[in-house]
Amino acid sequence: MTTDKNENLMEKIVSLCKRRGFVFQGSDIYGGLAGTWDYGPYGAELSNNIKNLWWKMFVSLREDMYGVDAAIIMNPKAWEASGHVSGFSDPLVVCDKCGHRFREDQLDDKTKCPDCEGKLGAVKQFNMMFKTSVGASEDESSVTYLRPETAGGMFVNYKNIQDSIHPKIPFGMAQIGKAFRNEIAPRDFVFRSREFRQMEVEYFVKPTEWETAFEEWRQVMLEWCKEIGLDSSHVHELEVPEGDLAHYSKRTIDFEFDYPFGRKELYGLAYRTDFDLRSHSAGSGVDLSYFDEESKERYTPHVIEPSLGLDRTILAVMCDAYREEQNTEDTRVYLAFKPKIAPVKIAVFPLLKNKEALVEKAREVYKTLKKEFGAVMFDDNGNIGKRYRRQDEIGTPWCVTVDFETIEKDAGVTVRDRDTGEQKRMSVLELISHVKNELGS
Ligand code: ATP
Repeated sequence: MTTDKNENLMEKIVSLCKRRGFVFQGSDIYGGLAGTWDYGPYGAELSNNIKNLWWKMFVSLREDMYGVDAAIIMNPKAWEASGHVSGFSDPLVVCDKCGHRFREDQLDDKTKCPDCEGKLGAVKQFNMMFKTSVGASEDESSVTYLRPETAGGMFVNYKNIQDSIHPKIPFGMAQIGKAFRNEIAPRDFVFRSREFRQMEVEYFVKPTEWETAFEEWRQVMLEWCKEIGLDSSHVHELEVPEGDLAHYSKRTIDFEFDYPFGRKELYGLAYRTDFDLRSHSAGSGVDLSYFDEESKERYTPHVIEPSLGLDRTILAVMCDAYREEQNTEDTRVYLAFKPKIAPVKIAVFPLLKNKEALVEKAREVYKTLKKEFGAVMFDDNGNIGKRYRRQDEIGTPWCVTVDFETIEKDAGVTVRDRDTGEQKRMSVLELISHVKNELGS
């Protein structure tokens, strides 16, 4: 039997994340810093698994993609050219009475303060880029910004990629990295923070080919949602109306997800026209046009951009994986992660802690599995039931117990499945091939 997991789902997830070492409030011991989060051991592992899977699907397995890892601090002229210095802002309103600040476009009633019902002041545009200064002087000439999206680092390297790798259009660049936005109202756990991670592609095409490429990437993104285990009935495509498009976009689809706090943007897919290369060409004075050998034409490539937030991915994956199962004595909580992204793949237990032969054999099995899969844990703390519960809560797909039959009859180990609770006896070699099969490796 399952309970209604949706009741207070966000509270349950935030609490599990802290209790089990997935995500902590940033600078926790100092009372935190709004809009920042620190990933603990399982959160970091989950992040890496998702990043690696993304890199494999969006870069390594394709012939037309080139990965980069660009600097976070860039020449401010790049952000002037891209329109971020003048236009990367959100509408800010401040309450006359309590002084609280809000994003005007997110308020249902734009006349009253949602906290104290006081009068809201006039709307001002608030630029979301974090300013910093480079070098020892702190005058206007040293001001630059932390990147608000990873895209900029790719556009400024378009020419370097052309000159060093010589790819033919269509081709794309990809990057995973941090982005910073001084959000007016960070909220909903890691959904809206001030420092977050993006996984982005800038795909350069011939101007007449943009629609084909857009459709191809739309399919890739849907496939990706399945690959990480999102329930497809929770993912929705929203064609962004013309009036709401960003300054650089001619068409955008938002991929929205049914979070516990509502249907909200998970990813974006944008057709950015030739806006970026044209603007950076004008801003830098460097020619960024492309000569097409086949058609003997010169043009500025157009761009399709699949933009995926890693932190919003993690929250979506957590929401869909969270399960509660009511038993006679308690509620079993488990995270039904796809094995590919699970932070720990296998946990190994000796049946009893105080039997040396069992512990020794369990350690041997643990070492063999660890060599094979890396993300393997050893646990001999408390009774087996408690060990299962701990692994369930971090989403470990398989728990392996070494018992007396393992050592006395050479009868293999028992393997317990996280989702069904079913136990099967198998040899360590059979287990390795079963797990490899499930991981697709
Ligand atoms: P929103 O409308 O929710 O503010 P956005 O449209 O400004 O988002 P984009 O500029 O399209 O977001 O950024 C691309 C992706 O980066 C988003 O789809 C999301 O996954 C992620 N992202 C953007 N802002 C944040 C944030 N403050 N915290 C976490 N992830 C974010």
